[in-house]
Amino acid sequence: MNDQSHNNESALVLFSGGQDSATCLAWALSRFARVETIGFDYGQRHGIELECRDDITTGLKRIRPEWQQRLGEQHTLDIPTLAEISDTALTRDVAIEMGEGGLPNTFVPGRNLLFLTFAAALAYRRGIRHIVGGMCETDFSGYPDCRDDTIKALNTALNLGMARNFELHTPLMWLDKAATWRLAEDLGGKTLVDLIVEKSHTCYLGERGARHDWGFGCGECPACQLRAKGWGAYTASHAEAKR
Ligand code: ZN
Repeated sequence: MNDQSHNNESALVLFSGGQDSATCLAWALSRFARVETIGFDYGQRHGIELECRDDITTGLKRIRPEWQQRLGEQHTLDIPTLAEISDTALTRDVAIEMGEGGLPNTFVPGRNLLFLTFAAALAYRRGIRHIVGGMCETDFSGYPDCRDDTIKALNTALNLGMARNFELHTPLMWLDKAATWRLAEDLGGKTLVDLIVEKSHTCYLGERGARHDWGFGCGECPACQLRAKGWGAYTASHAEAKR
């Protein structure tokens, strides 16, 4: 996408308060004239993510003056039904492990399909054409609703079903976690990287006790391990570049 092509348009960003969606929010703020966010409360164990959002948006507004002007409404939708119909390690107090078909039991079936459909319904009402999400195919988990093919198919379905011309953007689709940190650095320099380390939340268990060099979290769950690994690769490439 041409960076200048949407500078008069609005975007709605799926913003959970995690590393990926915080990076997506900065990406959208650097491209669109107006940016609103949507978050979902579905009884997830790590509801703390949602609480991190205010700290992140406050920090983002300080990084660039135009980001402060562009950042608009922050929406939160309660969808408790998702917890009712899903039986996963994200909504229940059970150990995270691999389940059938190589998918971890953190997989909430249909979650991203629902999120994007709700986002599109809200975008429709707000007159917003661009929807931005942090779905990533290179992610460790292999969630089928994060795949590029799924997103493209859903984009078509939403456009047909709502008679709109939505564009779903997934800037992290082909990035690994180290590249996601680099993208944050490109967008907002060390200040943005520091903000995401300090304020974004990734841990599946919702722990913010221990502060690691990559941020807060239990350090053991798959999400923490992935974040730690990506941070390690990112800082190593930095050290390499300085030599
Ligand atoms: Zn964790």
